[in-house]
Amino acid sequence: MSIAARPWLAHVERYRPGKRAANSDGSLASNESPLGISDLVAEAITAAIGQAYRYPDPLADGLRAALADRHGVDPEQILVGNGSDELIYLLALAYLAGGGRAVTADPAYRIDETSTAIVNAGLTKVPLADWTHDLATMATVAADIAYIVNPHNPTATVVSREDIEQFARTCRAALVVVDEAYIDFTDDPGAVTCMPLAASGQVAVLRTFSKIGGLAGLRIGYLVADPTVVAALRSVRQPFSVGTLAQAAALAALRDEAYYRRVREHVLQTRELMVAALGAAGLEVIPSQANFVLVVTPDT
Ligand SMILES: *Cc1c(COP(=O)(O)O)cnc(C)c1O
Repeated sequence: MSIAARPWLAHVERYRPGKRAANSDGSLASNESPLGISDLVAEAITAAIGQAYRYPDPLADGLRAALADRHGVDPEQILVGNGSDELIYLLALAYLAGGGRAVTADPAYRIDETSTAIVNAGLTKVPLADWTHDLATMATVAADIAYIVNPHNPTATVVSREDIEQFARTCRAALVVVDEAYIDFTDDPGAVTCMPLAASGQVAVLRTFSKIGGLAGLRIGYLVADPTVVAALRSVRQPFSVGTLAQAAALAALRDEAYYRRVREHVLQTRELMVAALGAAGLEVIPSQANFVLVVTPDT
């Protein structure tokens, strides 16, 4: 066979998933919900099973309407994806393929890097300053997309909405994408979220149901952005990428405020215990605003 993959793909590092948990208590490697699936979600999935022989609603209109209501935006500003990772791939296809450029922090969220590499786009990685995004330096980089992960993965640190707003006003990137996968674990999610900036089209915000929503195995997330961004991503997406069960589950998860509160409280409490235990063991622990903790281990 003489077919070869496109030459730049030789340099794309494959994703190595976190080690799966040995038991049902869950693992720490992939930042999943520690409390299993919500009862309301389980019921919604069971109720939706009878529809599984049909193609799903292409744009998840029911969920989109509920999300538009929740965030005070127009449904045309929302795109639901097969996990937020799918939406990051769509951003790369629509805005980076064929000679585009992206800027991320260094270290970056792995999918931001991979999606850029597979479309052969340029990537500038700006080292973190004091474990947080160095927005002042990132702003000087000419790019099609600037990715800000807030709280960041892998550091669990945050930058303020005010700083992101100023970044969006002054940066050389054409589109600012704020990935809020862990926003629900911050001390004050309402104060940190850039959703108000997404509502007015200044930035695009990514959210997922994989973390506090407890739906990592169903693959569902969404983007809130200017309608022109949603339209561009719609032109490159597969029409049926989000399954019927995932849509039903996400709608139920959105309404299950008791589960949301339980997971949030559990994570905030156990995070404090973990930080204290690691600190007591003499390790440097970076203050965390997510459901994971970065520990600085001594160089050996
Ligand atoms: C876990 C995670 C996501 C979620 O990805 P899904 O595809 O929605 O499961 C997105 N961004 C970051 C930074 C993450 O850590």
